[in-house]
Amino acid sequence: MLLDNKQIAIIGGGPGGLTLARLLQQKGVNVKVYERDINRTVRVQGGTLDLHTESGLAALEKAGLTDAFKANYRPGNDRLRILDEHAAIFFDEHNDKVKADFGDEWFRPEIDRGPLRDLLLDSLQPDTVVWDSHIVSLENVDNTWKIIFQNGNIVTADIVIGADGANSKIRPFVTPIKPFYSGVTILEKNILDAEKNAPKIYELIKGGKIMAFGDSKTVSASAKGDGSLDFYIGLKTDANWNIESGIDFKNNDEVLEWFKKEYSKWDNAIWLDLFGCEKSIFTPRPLYCMPLDQSWEAQSNITLIGDAAHLMPPYAGEGVNMAMLDALKLSESLTSKNFSDLKTAIGHYEKEMFARFAEVGKETLDNTEWMHSPSGLQTILKMFNHMHK
Ligand SMILES: Cc1cc2nc3c(=O)[nH]c(=O)nc-3n(C[C@H](O)[C@H](O)[C@H](O)COP(=O)(O)OP(=O)(O)OC[C@H]3O[C@@H](n4cnc5c(N)ncnc54)[C@H](O)[C@@H]3O)c2cc1C
Repeated sequence: MLLDNKQIAIIGGGPGGLTLARLLQQKGVNVKVYERDINRTVRVQGGTLDLHTESGLAALEKAGLTDAFKANYRPGNDRLRILDEHAAIFFDEHNDKVKADFGDEWFRPEIDRGPLRDLLLDSLQPDTVVWDSHIVSLENVDNTWKIIFQNGNIVTADIVIGADGANSKIRPFVTPIKPFYSGVTILEKNILDAEKNAPKIYELIKGGKIMAFGDSKTVSASAKGDGSLDFYIGLKTDANWNIESGIDFKNNDEVLEWFKKEYSKWDNAIWLDLFGCEKSIFTPRPLYCMPLDQSWEAQSNITLIGDAAHLMPPYAGEGVNMAMLDALKLSESLTSKNFSDLKTAIGHYEKEMFARFAEVGKETLDNTEWMHSPSGLQTILKMFNHMHK
């Protein structure tokens, strides 16, 4: 095998990096994951993730983790309600008589990020993940990578795989291509103990998800297993709005004042529930996307997966699925007998990855655009009513 006697360093222990580590270990490959989080108990941020049959779930199946997923996913959490800005419900999966299940085309089971990370970590050999390893740079010395960490540690590896997300430190060693601003910024927040702190929204979500559209703006929210709910507000604005607006996003009242003006057409008092929990703060995120036509020449000892390779906005629910599918496809290329050398194997993976992203990234950018347009609600209703026929 091309990876015999090679040491692989995966940078980043998100869903992409951990899935890849598992798939490579199943083939007996020497692999370490370097993760900047100080340990595995640091709370994993972010809302629930829906895994898709042909990508995220396919990778878990290959990794032998379908049963672990079934034991940890949240049945019913995929049930969606679509609303307008007045909180009127136009589409409601809680009313579906036939429940979708594994294997159905539109079944997209949801799992919290923490349990997904845990089930992947539990599948790895002890000490595979080296915590508190914030990478700052790489050096190539005699065809071996010297990996340099913020804490002063240095290790070496034969092959480096960048799975370190949106602001990848590895990507510049693969390509100078930079992401561009999608035109939409989100404000993200987690409301702890949602039943108490945001009772109206909690009731509306009913243990599932909501997406609301109005005045070219969106609100997306999902219930999590720990009783909290995660939500993000999306609007079209300038790339630097989060800085130039002068809003102190740590100050709940200041964000509420801004919301009341900017979302003046969102006139149902239910939306004010989103500001009910003062313990957690808003995080503004201008959404970036890699160019859809990106490509680069393959190298023999470094490549990228997941957001590091193809960051995109969250409006098609594909980011984690693509990261896990990359892991599956890269593990297959690297351990295949069909390639004469590593550069060809990596080149094969990257060529397919570019094509996948060109398609999925386009769908994502299209969604981002129409969801934040005056006809957002009508467009999504047409789509969902067609899917549920
Ligand atoms: C608000 C929001 C909602 C989303 N909703 C969805 C959704 O519903 N469905 C979906 O499929 N996708 C969604 N996404 C996208 C999804 O979160 C990402 O696409 C996915 O997490 C990418 O996985 P990854 O493993 O490539 O990177 P990440 O999950 O970003 O993991 C990267 C890992 O690398 C580590 N790291 C970063 N820098 C370094 C460094 N210098 N040194 C060492 N380690 C480092 C990080 O700590 C992290 O553990 C959403 C994204 C956002 C922002």
